[in-house]
Amino acid sequence: MSRPIHAVIHYAALQHNLKLINSKAPSARVWAVVKANAYGHCIEHVFDALRGADGFALLDIAEAEKLRDLGWRGPILLLEGVFDPRDLELCSRLGLWHTVHNETQVQMLAAHKTQQGHRVFLKLNSGMNRLGFDPIRYKSIWTRLNAMHQVEEISLLTHFARSESPSDVLQTLSVFKHATQDLPGERSLSNSGVVLGHSDLLAGEGFPDDWVRPGIALYGASPDAQHKSAKDWGLLPAQSLRSQLIAIQQVHVGDRVGYGAEHVVTKDMVIGVVACGYADGFPRVVGSAAQVLIQGRIRCSIFGRVSMDMLTVDLTPCLAQGVPVDVGAEVTLWGKSSEGVELSIDEVAAHAGTIGYELMCALAPRVRVQRDIDIG
Ligand SMILES: *Cc1c(COP(=O)(O)O)cnc(C)c1O
Repeated sequence: MSRPIHAVIHYAALQHNLKLINSKAPSARVWAVVKANAYGHCIEHVFDALRGADGFALLDIAEAEKLRDLGWRGPILLLEGVFDPRDLELCSRLGLWHTVHNETQVQMLAAHKTQQGHRVFLKLNSGMNRLGFDPIRYKSIWTRLNAMHQVEEISLLTHFARSESPSDVLQTLSVFKHATQDLPGERSLSNSGVVLGHSDLLAGEGFPDDWVRPGIALYGASPDAQHKSAKDWGLLPAQSLRSQLIAIQQVHVGDRVGYGAEHVVTKDMVIGVVACGYADGFPRVVGSAAQVLIQGRIRCSIFGRVSMDMLTVDLTPCLAQGVPVDVGAEVTLWGKSSEGVELSIDEVAAHAGTIGYELMCALAPRVRVQRDIDIG
C-alpha cells in the first residue's frame, strides 16, 4: 500500500459552488478559473464537475492543451496573455482567447501571421498596478487593436485589488466605467469576492459582468476568510486532505516530542503520529493551536514541530471521549472527514498566517489526488 496521505476532490461540492456563483450573477457567463492546476485540485479531476461553466480561464498553455485533450471545445482564456510570439501560434491553433495587458503583447499581435481573428480581453489597470493599461491610454490601445486584421473581437477586463468593501468596489468600478466609456465589447470584472459579495452592487450601477471569473469560490474556500467564512458564504469544500495515524506513543511527564525537543510533556499523554508533513504541503509554521480531525470527528491539537514527513498530535480528546484510536485511524488535515465533519482549510491557513488559496495550491506532487466519484 502507498503512503496513506491523499487529497479527495468532491464532485458535488464543485457543482454546488458553481451553482452558487450562477445564482449570484444570473446574467453573467462564468469563466471557471483553473490556473495552477485548478488551485491544486488537478484539472482532470475538476473538469467534469465544472464543465457546466461557459469557459475556463488559466495561465499556462500546457493546461489549456490538457483541457482540449479532455474534450473541451468551448472558450479558454489566458489571463496573463502570451509571453512570446510562438504562444500566439498556439492560440491560433488551439483557439485560445487571450488577455492583452502590455505594449509588447500589442506589437506581437500586430506581427502575428494568422488567417483567424483572435478574441482578446484588453486589460485595464484600475489601480492594482500589476497588469493592464493606464486609464488614459486604454482607448487608444483599443483603437489600435480594433484596426488589426489579427483581432476579431475585443472584450474589456479589469481585476479588483480589494473586493472586501463596497466603497472600494465602487471606486474601482468608476475608474473602469470612465476608461471604457463608449467602447463596445463584453465586460469582465468580478473575481470570487466580488461575485459573492457585490454582484448586486455592480448590477445596481448598471454594470453587471458579461463574464465573471471565480476561482477560490469554486473550490469552497473563502475569498475573505478574515471577515466571512466559506460556510457563511454557503460554499462547500472541494478538497479534503486526509491521512492516517502511523504510530502511537505513550509519553510521560518530562518527555519531549519532535525536533528541537521544545515540546515538553507536562502530563502523561498519548501522542499520535500522522503521515503528513511539510513535504506534503502542510505548513510547518502552524503552531500547536492548529487542530486535525481524528477518526472522522474528534478535534486534536498538534503537539511538537511539524517535520518533513510527519506531524504529531495530542490524542487526549479521543481518550476523554472514549474513542479508541490505533494505527490506521483516519486523520483529516483540512476539508471534510469521511464522516462528513468539516475542518476548514481557511482555519488551518489562519494558524499559518496565510490564506486557504496558498495551502490548496501548495499541495505537493507526492500527494495522491483522487475524485470521490468517477464520472465516465
Ligand atoms: C486568479 C484570478 C481570478 C480568480 O480569483 P479568485 O479570488 O480566486 O476568485 C480572477 N481573475 C484573474 C485575472 C485572476 O488572475
